[in-house]
Amino acid sequence: MVSGAWAGVEESGSARSVADRDSVLRVHPRAFRDELVSSAQWVAEYLDRLEQGPVTRRLPAELRRRLGSGGLAEPGGELFGVLDFAEQSLAPYPTGNGHPAFFAWINSPPSPAGVIAELLATAINATCGMGEHALMDLERGVIADLARLAGMAESTGGVLTSGGSMANLLCLAAARHWFLQRHQALDGPEYDAAHGRLVAYCGVQAHMSVAKAAAVIGIPRARVRVIATTPDRCMDVEALAAAVRADRAAGLLPFCVVSNLGSTPTGAVDTPAPITAVCREHGMWHHADGAWGGLGIQVPGWAPAYDGIAEIDSLTVDPHKTLSVPVGCGAALVTDPQRLRAAFGFRASYLDSDENLPWMSEYTFELTRPGTRAFALWATLHQLGRSGVIALLEHYDRMAGYLRDRITAEPRLELLACGPLPVVCFRVRGIGSHTALAETVQARGRAYLATVDHEGDTVLRACICNHRTGPEHIDTLLEEILTSATELEDAHTSAPASSVPMPR
Ligand SMILES: *Cc1c(COP(=O)(O)O)cnc(C)c1O
Repeated sequence: MVSGAWAGVEESGSARSVADRDSVLRVHPRAFRDELVSSAQWVAEYLDRLEQGPVTRRLPAELRRRLGSGGLAEPGGELFGVLDFAEQSLAPYPTGNGHPAFFAWINSPPSPAGVIAELLATAINATCGMGEHALMDLERGVIADLARLAGMAESTGGVLTSGGSMANLLCLAAARHWFLQRHQALDGPEYDAAHGRLVAYCGVQAHMSVAKAAAVIGIPRARVRVIATTPDRCMDVEALAAAVRADRAAGLLPFCVVSNLGSTPTGAVDTPAPITAVCREHGMWHHADGAWGGLGIQVPGWAPAYDGIAEIDSLTVDPHKTLSVPVGCGAALVTDPQRLRAAFGFRASYLDSDENLPWMSEYTFELTRPGTRAFALWATLHQLGRSGVIALLEHYDRMAGYLRDRITAEPRLELLACGPLPVVCFRVRGIGSHTALAETVQARGRAYLATVDHEGDTVLRACICNHRTGPEHIDTLLEEILTSATELEDAHTSAPASSVPMPR
């Protein structure tokens, strides 16, 4: 990929030395700068204009085939081909989470500071698993900031991850290690005797990554007990205590409870204190999955539900959800970080850290790790400040309140379980399939939401996690839902369905 004026000599093999200026990746500094500037301009315009287009578009079959089948050309291409490709083949077909009328799942748009930081961190290209360098210290710093925002104990440490799933995995692995160590069963026949008796507990609304993480550390489904919920959708602590007692009486080894600080389907919060009490009584670890609600203590209206968060053992937080850090930033926070290091502090002769300043790789499964996570998180927190974090969460809360009020006021809609976190489950009265309804809304392109299983029914679920979402976008969402419902009813009762034109 030797570009433009720089395309000097393309020497082959033997003549090339380390000092050669025509390495295959080298480009003229001016050509590089020009492409960076063009890309930066494109990014600014793209993000600015995002709202004017549809939330997302259906990928044309031909493009899907082309993207998915690979096909490496023999000669390298020009640098400008990268931006062209992004513009033509990728950007028109996003998940949709940049758009303020996107209400599916829990995905936010990228913060402006985070976008800039990702580029800068990529250029610095530190590997946050080894060596002594500024980005690794920055990671320690943002972990401390996150822990304070979450209301955890001052001792808390941890590590950034790709997301909440990986953070849950790290914390469950640390819990298992801690438990087996206390039972002198980390290896040998003691390990064999203990491991098959380990039991974990979670709520009905637990994220599926909890069972997935348990499976990865060797705890099968049958030994992940799903504890019933109370009518307010929180873990039934009495039922939890009873299950733990029954398992211990049966000779099993309960080692960990995973609670929810913001359940994914409905936004329910399991108050930590009573669950921690059960854990302490039985020598168990309390991990709270706060992937999207982990910082909720910052909102005065939600704070009482977070009672006891300073006493839990570990917490998952996803800065790429409520904080709008670009995708790929989760965090595993552990009150006693030595427990994380006990599980992951494997060493090699060629990787020798200072005993008093452990490398981040000693707290996680990854060795070579990107610095983008730490810097994009730092940059987003820098832009927000503590008051900005609170304002952001309160904004989501206000928008969810507006949506709930509008649903309550609309006779065709029925409000179902939701909150206290900003997620709203509801249904359209008399509609046959909410799956078809959500698909119709998605295809029309003006708003986007998903469905969720609610007490055996599939219903609509809207989650608010976008700083640009305003009442007008919520109005659009409801308008689209009601129009789509009428359309589906008409199609059902009369003529064949007309295909829905895609608005531009
Ligand atoms: C989103 C979510 C996860 C998974 O996080 P990823 O970043 O998608 O891996 C885990 N737990 C809860 C409660 C979540 O909402």
